[in-house]
Amino acid sequence: MKFRQARFEEPLIFELSRSGAHGFEFPRLEPELKRSLEEALNEIPEELRRRDLNLPELSELDVVRHFTRLSEMNYSITTGMYPLGSCTMKYNPILNEEIASSSKVLQVHPLQPEETVQGCLKLLYDLEQLLKRLTGMDRFSFQPSAGAHGEFLGCLIIREYHRSKGRDRRIMIIPDSAHGTNPASATMAGFEVRVVKSNEYGCVDVDELEKMVDEDVAGIMLTNPNTLGIFEKDIEKIVEIIHGVDGLLYYDGANLNALLGKVRPGDMGFDIIHLNLHKTFSTPHGGGGPGSGPIGVVKRLVDFLPPPLVEYDEENDRYYLDYDRPKSVGRIKMFHGNFSVLVKTYAYLLRMGGDGLKKVAETSVLASNYLLRKLEKLRGINVPFDPKRPRKHEFVVSLQPLYKETGVRAVDVAKRLLDYGYHAPTIYFPLIVDEAFMIEPTETESKREIDGFYEALKNVLNEAYRDPEKVKNAPYNTAIGRVDEVRASHPRTMIPSWRIYRRRMKS
Ligand SMILES: *Cc1c(COP(=O)(O)O)cnc(C)c1O
Repeated sequence: MKFRQARFEEPLIFELSRSGAHGFEFPRLEPELKRSLEEALNEIPEELRRRDLNLPELSELDVVRHFTRLSEMNYSITTGMYPLGSCTMKYNPILNEEIASSSKVLQVHPLQPEETVQGCLKLLYDLEQLLKRLTGMDRFSFQPSAGAHGEFLGCLIIREYHRSKGRDRRIMIIPDSAHGTNPASATMAGFEVRVVKSNEYGCVDVDELEKMVDEDVAGIMLTNPNTLGIFEKDIEKIVEIIHGVDGLLYYDGANLNALLGKVRPGDMGFDIIHLNLHKTFSTPHGGGGPGSGPIGVVKRLVDFLPPPLVEYDEENDRYYLDYDRPKSVGRIKMFHGNFSVLVKTYAYLLRMGGDGLKKVAETSVLASNYLLRKLEKLRGINVPFDPKRPRKHEFVVSLQPLYKETGVRAVDVAKRLLDYGYHAPTIYFPLIVDEAFMIEPTETESKREIDGFYEALKNVLNEAYRDPEKVKNAPYNTAIGRVDEVRASHPRTMIPSWRIYRRRMKS
């Protein structure tokens, strides 16, 4: 087994500081300029003047080495497999990055006259047509910057839909297996969340749902396949129940891999959907870079979308922006959201084509079921909910048997996997599975990589039975070993430079 972990113990840049060290030097100020600057400075009251910036002092080489080492401590999809369930950490073709970085994309401004950006408007228009075809929705807004942002916009639209009918509905139904952003977005949009339980098959308990639906219910937020990777086969019945009270169905489309070219949320009966372009459609994510969570809606909700929408004037063969949307819930972001992400999505869709997208769906499902069938045979693991039923692009196993027999928990196994050079899977989500391990191999991993991950996990489980203490104290091969989870998420320990900064300011 190869060990591929971060090997540097790199101090903070403040700790590397050497008094007097410097890199690039600016030319000295001409005396005349210096004098007038000083005069200007004297106009600023003493107490408002900033004196010592406390910047670290380093040579150019110090700086270059520091940041190179830091970059090598980073784990990304370009380092190795990243089986983080619900996150779709797949490989994104560099070609699409190239296209999005071309000067034609970088040097346009959203306030340019329409006739000078016809190409960009056409791209937005065409992309919308493609997403409509893929999802079965009637119109899209590209404004939201992320999945949760799209959910929030979707919830505002649901609220507005009911208001337009003269009623104030406050209940949003959300399954107990939902992604945490669903209840958060619904709450932020003013809804009260009513939780519907999953049944023994890991699907929405339809009898339970039927009992809790009444005229106060604004809608339901669902994802299908759900977070267990299981397809909700009663979806038609669920649609009937919710539409029965004129509620709306919101589709959390953050993880669309398994569906591409196969099934459309619109055909299932959903009214609103968000997509995570930074998961499914070729934008790397996880590092805080720009994302995009466009939302699509069915015809009767189009009026509520934020302005502007891109329209096409066939007669004059010209694209234009329609700002005249009096019933809209309003903007939630400037212009058309993160344009570069939309460019990457467009490039990805065109290059993949319909058959390519179908292959994405098939391969992501194959990869996940292949790995699941291997893992289910390992001691310490069980498969909750209808274990024989195939999963979609991801699956969830429970390490509860391992915990019972050895005291080793899912978090310990996850940490030990780091020593083997793998990013850990998602753990303790969804909440309805004890000691949950949620794994999404994605379609871009080869059989060899998946087998490698399987071998690493098998080794860790064997080790847990042999030497549980060893696993409980992992990782050993990373720059920083086991951290105290509570202290690690305390804001002040999370940002050590803040601590040092404070120390410096006091001295
Ligand atoms: C990632 C994810 C989200 C949230 O998307 P962000 O872009 O992180 O806001 C919502 N739902 C599901 C199921 C997800 O996997």
